[in-house]
Amino acid sequence: MRIDLHTHSRVSDGTDAPGDLVRAAKAQGLDVVALTDHDTAAGWPEAAEVAAETGIELVRGMEISTEHQGHSVHLLAYLPDPAHPPLAAELERVLAGRSDRLPQMVARLNDLGIALTVEDVVAVSGDAAASGRPHVADALVRLGVVADRTEAFDRYLAWGRPAYLSRYAAPLADAVRAVTEAGGVSVIAHPWGRSGRERPDADDLAMLSRAGLSGLEVDHQDHAPRTRARLRALARELGLVVTGASDYHGTGKVGHPLGVNTTDPEEYARLLDRAARAAEAARTVRGLVPPGVVRA
Ligand code: AMP
Ligand code: ZN
Ligand code: FE
Ligand code: FE
Repeated sequence: MRIDLHTHSRVSDGTDAPGDLVRAAKAQGLDVVALTDHDTAAGWPEAAEVAAETGIELVRGMEISTEHQGHSVHLLAYLPDPAHPPLAAELERVLAGRSDRLPQMVARLNDLGIALTVEDVVAVSGDAAASGRPHVADALVRLGVVADRTEAFDRYLAWGRPAYLSRYAAPLADAVRAVTEAGGVSVIAHPWGRSGRERPDADDLAMLSRAGLSGLEVDHQDHAPRTRARLRALARELGLVVTGASDYHGTGKVGHPLGVNTTDPEEYARLLDRAARAAEAARTVRGLVPPGVVRA
């Protein structure tokens, strides 16, 4: 059984339509795929329809942009009811924060002599729920200013670079609680990935586990073998589920092909078990309708 629990479609900053992503996952021989676009469930209906046709199990998810003690943390949320008001409000704030800073980001680039317009960025964003830095990067590629997304971040868009602007991120512990209340489960994406720091640290993870966190994405391309070993041990100690995934973005991110990392079927079963319990509580206590997996 091959299980990939972290992918992005065109609805955020990937390059495949949600349905095409599901077909690609099936063609790669995956048995289970999760669609986890940034801060939105907008790709779910199309992905679910194609999963049912194609015969692959689909986990409806999202990757929420959160912050903890000033550090950006990505939180994977699986199977929550996205209409639960506290969750919906956080997602809306993040998406609005991402889109609202776009004119100022473009103005910064204009100041550097780059003739980019907001319309250029919106044109490459297509059906994305919001225009973020990856879309600005794509627009810079299209304009011939940089060769690829990486160069755009390195020169202009990364923290500390001239066109960097911060935006709203949901407080991490609040996001964990909102996901649980919405009948879903949460897993910290690439916990010690991009930052190169071991943050959130072991104490933070213990606190989050008490707040309802279900797992850690241990097997991710941004983690070296040593980091994976340490996170795996920590997850075991805290009783957290261990996941592995590609963080596939189509052609938007190199080195992240579908299925490059996968989740152990037993760990997946534990995650679904926790989700079933959260969903039952959300249905009975709050009258919510968590989506459940689409079975192959
Ligand atoms: P935003 O939410 O608009 O600030 O964009 C954040 C997204 O940009 C992240 O989720 C990543 O997918 C991408 N990203 C952040 N830093 C980099 C980087 N250094 N190189 C490439 N992509 C990046
Ligand atoms: Zn992304
Ligand atoms: Fe991420
Ligand atoms: Fe991601």
